[in-house]
Amino acid sequence: MRKTGYAFAAMAAAAALTLTACGGGSGDDGGGDKVKIGIKFDQPGLGFKDGDNYKGFDVDVAKYVANELGYKEDQIEFVSAPSANRETMLQNNQVDMIFATYSITDERKKVVDFAGPYFVAGQDLLVKKDSDITSPEDLNGKNLCSVTGSTSARKVKEKYASKVNLQELPGYAECVTQMAGGTIDAVTTDDIILAGLAAQPAYQGKFELVGKPFSEERYGVGLPKGSDKCEAINEAITKMIDSGEWKKALESNTEGTGYTPNAKVNPPKPDACA
Ligand code: GLU
Repeated sequence: MRKTGYAFAAMAAAAALTLTACGGGSGDDGGGDKVKIGIKFDQPGLGFKDGDNYKGFDVDVAKYVANELGYKEDQIEFVSAPSANRETMLQNNQVDMIFATYSITDERKKVVDFAGPYFVAGQDLLVKKDSDITSPEDLNGKNLCSVTGSTSARKVKEKYASKVNLQELPGYAECVTQMAGGTIDAVTTDDIILAGLAAQPAYQGKFELVGKPFSEERYGVGLPKGSDKCEAINEAITKMIDSGEWKKALESNTEGTGYTPNAKVNPPKPDACA
């Protein structure tokens, strides 16, 4: 069947509309525009989807910053941003910003921009209670789980992977499920993430954090390369810290997990735009 000129024009118009819709969310044309924010959906205390609600410290910082940038809460659309997808999501403009335990690294800075940092965590190990693993050096010959596209998996590969059996899964929650099932000996990522997962009711009393962080993970706000929002975001983070809201958000989201942030490096000074 031949397409008429009219049908073709209609298709072209539809395609143009679709393109516009995909690129939207900058908020520049005012009035009801959405801002798309990438967060984790499966990290309790940081970024967690609970029915239609989004909870956690990353979510609270994201809401505060978005509000300072002029977005009301109902203009925010939270999107799942798994570790391995973050750079691509920013490069393809699928999200405007990412608040997802996203460490600022030189490697990532080649393809995305960062504001922040708004928190500093450290890589640690979660093990079964009474495990004989007390440091990363004890991991040789053990089954360790981490997440594809994370700094955590990378560090293990570079430093300890010679004799460790590293399994990479899409999310840390999956790693912890595997450890509860007995196939994994340890899970590695940032201490604050591990603390939130271990405090889940189903796991209480089963796991413990080794508690000797072996890296510094500076959580940045991921932005598309060339973004003009970096300074404004840093100002918003500074305001959140100075107002006491940052501390409140951190405390309420880590309550009951036994986690204490490293006070030597927290709260950080947002300086990543420079
Ligand atoms: N902060 C680390 C990273 O950005 C580990 C946590 C994560 O995978 O989000 O890779």
